[in-house]
Amino acid sequence: MPRPIHAVVHQDALTHNLQVARNATPDSQVFAVVKANAYGHGIERVYPALSAADGFALLDLAEAKRIRALGWTGPILLLEGVFSPQDLYDCTQDQLSFTVHHLSQIEWIERHPAPAQFHVYLKMNSGMNRLGFQPAAYREAWQRLHALPQVASITHMTHFSDADGNRFGESGINYQQRIFEQTVEGLAGPRSISNSAAILRHPLHSDVVRSGIMLYGSAPDYPAHSIDHWTLKPTMSLRSELLAIQDLQPNDTVGYGSSFMADRPLKIGIVACGYADGYQRISPTGTPILVDGVRTRTVGRVSMDMLAVDLTPVPQAAVGSEVVLWGRSKTGATLSIDDVAVASGTVGYELMCAVTARVPFIIQT
Ligand SMILES: *Cc1c(COP(=O)(O)O)cnc(C)c1O
Repeated sequence: MPRPIHAVVHQDALTHNLQVARNATPDSQVFAVVKANAYGHGIERVYPALSAADGFALLDLAEAKRIRALGWTGPILLLEGVFSPQDLYDCTQDQLSFTVHHLSQIEWIERHPAPAQFHVYLKMNSGMNRLGFQPAAYREAWQRLHALPQVASITHMTHFSDADGNRFGESGINYQQRIFEQTVEGLAGPRSISNSAAILRHPLHSDVVRSGIMLYGSAPDYPAHSIDHWTLKPTMSLRSELLAIQDLQPNDTVGYGSSFMADRPLKIGIVACGYADGYQRISPTGTPILVDGVRTRTVGRVSMDMLAVDLTPVPQAAVGSEVVLWGRSKTGATLSIDDVAVASGTVGYELMCAVTARVPFIIQT
């Protein structure tokens, strides 16, 4: 029998969360962001549900080709654009749209032999200061692309740095939205500006929305709002079982470094899950976890292959009892990945991307 740890990808939850994005932006095309192998879920595993989206957005040519191999004929957007002039040939062959965020990318398009017809997303740096043209250079970049026979369409694009919160006392996106609107004024073409946080929190004119994390059942603005608030459902469940039970006496310790010490008689369970499965080693004593569907806490340091849980609220737990590291239990109890992430000093994004290759995945329809 294989080690009991496994991850479940829930198709019904993906379908549901996509519908939440659609309901929030009824006039927009909803692109599913599937970068980082669909936020750790596996592109092929989310495709059955997310093929109901209007398009896909991702980073690598290799991931784009995997989506084409699944039979997808709709739009695919490369969020970081092409990395070399050579990539433009792949964009033609696989009909990929791509971001243009740098002058050298415009030069590559200019030198690319016609009759290529590219659909480009011209990216404005409205304050994130990662990718994109400064507002002062944006209109010139647009004019230059607009004049090229190799360019079939230009979508105005920007990415918000603060759509999940506030910046300097004002709603996080106001200042970026102002800059964007002023800069594109009078230029034709559709817009793509909203990520998950903007979709849920800010009704904006975004012809194409780029929904990522919300599709995967994590709230972009946790802890201000939870997935229950946004009516999102967990799409990934990391499940395992108890391998052993230990009865501790006062002053007994648990795990490497003896970082946890019992202050009373305590029953603990040993779970087949460790940092080599992608569970964060930094997750401290007290990180929430489900045993037999009951919420309890981890105790002691996470080791490579195991971690320990306090069985006080689940006295009936035994070897073989189900453990949910995050997601849904078989009985329907849920532990939001956001709760685990906050306890571990990170975000749901990182936890779902971190599940390692040794964890087998199951697709649940
Ligand atoms: C990752 C990404 C998104 C999706 O963001 P979420 O917060 O996961 O919705 C949208 N746009 C760009 C440019 C991205 O890189």
